[in-house]
Amino acid sequence: FESMEYGPAAEDDGPARAWLARHGGRFGHFIAGRFTEPGAAFASRNPATGEVLAELTQASEADVEAAVAAARAAQGRWARASGHERARHLYALARMVQKNARLFAVLETLDNGKPIRESRDIDVPLVARHFYYHAGMAQLAEAEFGGLEPVGVCGQIIPWNFPLLMLAWKVAPALAAGCTVVLKPAEYTSLSALLFAELAAEVGLPMGVLNIVTGDGAVGEMIVAHPDIDKIAFTGSTEVGRKIRQATAGSGKALTLELGGKSPYIVFDDADLDSAVEGLVDAIWFNQGQVCCAGSRLIVQEGVAERFHDKLRRRMGELRLGNPLDKCIDIGAIVDPVQLQRIERMVAGSAGEVFQPEISLPEGGCFFRPTLITGLEPADPLMQEEIFGPVLVSTTFRTPAEAVELANNSRYGLAASIWSENVNLALDVAPKLAAGVVWVNATNLFDAAAGFGGVRESGFGREGGWEGMHAYLKPARRARALAPLRPVPAPESPKP
Ligand code: NAD
Repeated sequence: FESMEYGPAAEDDGPARAWLARHGGRFGHFIAGRFTEPGAAFASRNPATGEVLAELTQASEADVEAAVAAARAAQGRWARASGHERARHLYALARMVQKNARLFAVLETLDNGKPIRESRDIDVPLVARHFYYHAGMAQLAEAEFGGLEPVGVCGQIIPWNFPLLMLAWKVAPALAAGCTVVLKPAEYTSLSALLFAELAAEVGLPMGVLNIVTGDGAVGEMIVAHPDIDKIAFTGSTEVGRKIRQATAGSGKALTLELGGKSPYIVFDDADLDSAVEGLVDAIWFNQGQVCCAGSRLIVQEGVAERFHDKLRRRMGELRLGNPLDKCIDIGAIVDPVQLQRIERMVAGSAGEVFQPEISLPEGGCFFRPTLITGLEPADPLMQEEIFGPVLVSTTFRTPAEAVELANNSRYGLAASIWSENVNLALDVAPKLAAGVVWVNATNLFDAAAGFGGVRESGFGREGGWEGMHAYLKPARRARALAPLRPVPAPESPKP
């Protein structure tokens, strides 16, 4: 921490460091209710400083086997438990998250580099909300989901941008439905999942219901290929999602994919421009732009484009970048040097006009300035590819029809924002956009009760809400037995 300035506004990281120290800075997997012995190690680093936070274990085939066996052993009993009993456990998990909110938030910020303001005020409260909501869903099991049964043992693979929140999106509905889980966090950010599993066992979650294995994509591949897994739920890049779809094809495994995005942020000339600028700060600089539904493509109407860009550039100069544990910070660190170099490479190769405010960067960590790129052709790679960093690309339009055309000129379809004071215009444009969610005069609104997911190459399936629950349920065998398929009578052959 030599290079990080710790002012009076820095959050105390003592309890998170004490937890790491209690484990000697080394972690095995969490299987059948306890930690395994640490094995072949890889480092988990603080991206703001480069400091090694912990040594994690790369799972072997045998580890994955043990985790799946533990989940399978627990599955029958967990599925047969009443909805009320499962709800009791989910409420306990929600309260456990709230009680340890600060510990989770600080650990997440240390491991991922996101500003503490975000992990404390957005990620962790949403995690608790997901467990409360799904406790309610579990309570409704008999009344609302009769005739359905859990899909079984679920392999869940998550990315590093919202480590604990992505765990909650996956684990809460699975547990509510009566499924058991083998979850693999991303290799850069596994610590909050390990803490979660440890505390879950402490608050009485039965052994084997939630198992965590750590490691890189090879471990994900083992989970995807495992014959005793009934469903794969994946959040991550479109490229890996495609591989997983190919690997599960014909296997009978259920599959949901939450993939990448290049979401349009459309500003009409009658929009409240100051609000639209604030919205854009949230859309593209929340979590350093490492957000699947980030409003990363600004599409602004020609008449106000110059004024809007001016306001935006001024606002960008006011963003505070630095130590993620500092409560005043807007922009923290990029998750890993590999991601930072990817962003640097993409921006360096830009054919457009690049603007970055004069903000000094802390030394020794993975930091990147908020960036605006104008003057790109719609077909430019930077207009089409997900950068997954604090980089906004911008283009202009004349008519609403042209705005729709530009917005839909993408292989992705995760989210979109429309900014206009004319509600008729906004409601006319919204259904024409190819996106899983469209926000009007808003951005990044999430709730456990609202299904989230994409179209096109952003994936399929929904997480959250009723749709999310149904993704972990299937028709019960008993119900299928009651309504057997009747053979279709053979057509009468024409008389000669
Ligand atoms: P990634 O696809 O590289 O990795 C995601 C997870 O998959 C990691 O745990 C990784 O270890 C694992 N993995 C890698 N290769 C694998 C393989 N061959 N088989 C199985 N698992 C494998 O993605 P990332 O870089 O960690 O995350 C960024 C991506 O995630 C972005 O594209 C972003 O848009 C997307 N994302 C989508 C959503 C959504 O809800 N749609 C949410 C968050 C992030």
